[in-house]
Amino acid sequence: MKWTEAIDLIANDAIQKWPIGADLLHHCLPMLLGGLVRKSATEAVCRDLQGNEHTFPRHCSCPSRHRIGNQCEHTIVFQLASRAQTLLQGETHMPPATPGTPRTAKGTEIPAQFLVDSEPNTKGEITQFIKYAGLLWVAHQEGLQRLEVEWLQNEEKLSLAKATAVFADGRIFTERGDSTPDNVGPRAKTHWRRVSLTRAKARALRDALGIEYVSQEETE
Ligand SMILES: [Zn+2]
Repeated sequence: MKWTEAIDLIANDAIQKWPIGADLLHHCLPMLLGGLVRKSATEAVCRDLQGNEHTFPRHCSCPSRHRIGNQCEHTIVFQLASRAQTLLQGETHMPPATPGTPRTAKGTEIPAQFLVDSEPNTKGEITQFIKYAGLLWVAHQEGLQRLEVEWLQNEEKLSLAKATAVFADGRIFTERGDSTPDNVGPRAKTHWRRVSLTRAKARALRDALGIEYVSQEETE
């Protein structure tokens, strides 16, 4: 995967999750498409499309007119660059193929760093989950071109979403996901409606990849 492809994937995902920030996200893209020069815990140095280097802090209190809440274009660039870097590192650090490694229906290996074990249940059984980032990464390996999601319904205590995954070979997968204030975990209580979007996307990707693993984020 190339840097620009990783940015594209990460930005699209961010826009779907945070539609109100779509303009801000679009405004940021030219500032980091030239590549990531270096990154620390507090700042990232990115190249713009003209090849100029700029420093983007993790936290910023500038008076930007693009600001939404505590996010400005500088902090957004830092976040997008960080996520793209993680995605690409997942690719670089992919362990060599070993027998018994989990794979998709098409045979793409699912890198171990994307799989997580649950806490043992009362019978001591452990369930293996896939991280949502892993679903996205593997889907991209198999030619994912677009992943769209929309709410079909938002009632007082129910959100219903529909996601569509479109692949380069023309395959299209559509799935739905729902969420209620009661069927999400404590961490997701304040944004329970958004869980329906994640669930729909994760299901569409799992269908497309032909894998059984439930994504960790679906169970939030
Ligand atoms: Zn700023």
